[in-house]
Amino acid sequence: MEFAILADAFRKMESTRKRLELTQYLVELFEKTPQEVISKIVYLLQGKLRPDFEGIELGVAEKLAIRAISKSSGIPIKKIETEYRKSGDLGSASTVILEQKTQTTFLMEDITVERVYETLFKIAKLEGSRSQDMKMKYISSLLNDATPIEASFILKILLGTLRLGVAENTMMDALAIAFTSNKENRKQLEHSYNVSSDLGKVAEVVASKGLEGIEKFEINLFNPIRPMLADRVKSEDEAIEKMGNKFAAEYKLDGERVQLHIEGERVILFSRSLENITSYYPDIVEKIPKSIQAEKVILEAEAVAINENSGEFLPFQELMHRRRKYKIEKAVLQYPISVNFFDILYHNGKSCLELEYQERRKLLEKIVKEDEFAKNIPMTIVTNENEIEEFLENSINAGCEGLMLKMLDKPYQAGSRGSHWLKLKREYRNELGDSLDLVVIGAFFGKGRRTGRYGTLLLASYDDDQDMFTSICKVGTGFTDEDLDQLYQILSDKVTIKKNPRIDSEMEADVWFEPELVVEVVASEITLSPIHKAARDQIRKNTGLALRFPKFTGKIRVEKAAEDASTNEEVMTLYKGQKKVAHDKNLM
Ligand code: AMP
Repeated sequence: MEFAILADAFRKMESTRKRLELTQYLVELFEKTPQEVISKIVYLLQGKLRPDFEGIELGVAEKLAIRAISKSSGIPIKKIETEYRKSGDLGSASTVILEQKTQTTFLMEDITVERVYETLFKIAKLEGSRSQDMKMKYISSLLNDATPIEASFILKILLGTLRLGVAENTMMDALAIAFTSNKENRKQLEHSYNVSSDLGKVAEVVASKGLEGIEKFEINLFNPIRPMLADRVKSEDEAIEKMGNKFAAEYKLDGERVQLHIEGERVILFSRSLENITSYYPDIVEKIPKSIQAEKVILEAEAVAINENSGEFLPFQELMHRRRKYKIEKAVLQYPISVNFFDILYHNGKSCLELEYQERRKLLEKIVKEDEFAKNIPMTIVTNENEIEEFLENSINAGCEGLMLKMLDKPYQAGSRGSHWLKLKREYRNELGDSLDLVVIGAFFGKGRRTGRYGTLLLASYDDDQDMFTSICKVGTGFTDEDLDQLYQILSDKVTIKKNPRIDSEMEADVWFEPELVVEVVASEITLSPIHKAARDQIRKNTGLALRFPKFTGKIRVEKAAEDASTNEEVMTLYKGQKKVAHDKNLM
């Protein structure tokens, strides 16, 4: 398939943010796409080569790309840099630059999607000392044969700056229309995506086998399943109102969610955002297979740092020390954990997702042989407020965050947040504010004790409609010296020269970051704001929402992707909830 067709679709899609138009362009593109290339097209549209969980990174630096442009076009590096500085985006600048190409190439080879994809794949796989030269060679050979517009998109994919704003749902709408002629079939596609986390694979199946293929889609061991999420409730009676008068209550542990895929001695671990995190937990890989009495399983657990002497649970922060590439053995000894199972998703070749909660729990208890390291999360059946209250107290005393409440007769809803699972944290009950998970988008340098580090962070909530990060507050309290050091270290890898186009902020920060890191904050109130961009125009024209007196809780949520941060929808719900409380109080 000619790459020009894809480049043309990219160009059209870049010019709009409207979902209907994007869908239409995608449908037109998919209809022109041969079956064998559809998965590649779907990955490239997302600026990727493979699904995220495979961890394939292109990792091409701007400097290298500039050298490659120069090599293929004969244009001096200085000139390219000047042009780049003007537009701030090397991909777009390259269109202008390459129009001025002085070097003519003969024997141009056709640029096909297959060729671009395979070359990018080779680049991603390169390692070792000669890899930079080889990358240069591959990139300039592609640029050599590409038209300026094709070249600009190749560069954007390489640099990770292709931002088409196509959400997964839009992609699935378009796949359903193109290959089943009915948008309503998106639901079935969604299910396959939820159990495979691989949109390329979903596209391949629907393009080659239609709806029938999608209906037969099965869970594959070692392919992560998108996790089920919980809604929150503020009180015991709200829980009873939503769940009836008999349901399960489990301790809500404060650790890292881990999805374990196990077959014999082979163990692969995925995080909540489906990143492969096996290397951080060699102790799980070594010990867990002995505790599991099944041939093949997918289980969910919370890995929690513990005090080895007392067995007490320690806060989530302790696990941060495990996130390292080197000397992991030492960290394993220094920061011991326990693995606390709470669900089973697949058992000996069969999906367990459709089973009711109580059947899954029974199965879990049957196959997990408990010991000091591996346990099932404490669970009890509750029928009234007092029982919830009592179990909540126990959980807090054991060092947990609160409770997870689960309906007994409901299946596991992969990839969705719903009311079949509710979380009840203690702080929700007495303080006004709920905690929010926000993305760090910028920072301001500190003064005094904080000189040389970031004193204040600029945070954003997630606008999942537009796929943007909207500023919501500045936060400068709640940080210990250790937090400031740690944040400075983590964030210095994410600094960008220009504000990322997915960031929506009127406020000018000293430094901008790639919107990646999620931190937890509490606040006293949500207020209307003329400056901040969260939920802009939704409550009142030219006005957004902001957090008043925000405070960092000490939690850096490395396990969350930026897209898992609190959404503007959630912020609005909290805003409206708080207005209702104020209103009710006035009436009393
Ligand atoms: P939150 O991150 O506040 O939305 O809370 C949901 C998270 O709680 C999950 O992603 C798990 O990591 C964690 N968790 C702790 N205990 C449980 C439990 N018993 N059941 C399900 N999730 C749990």
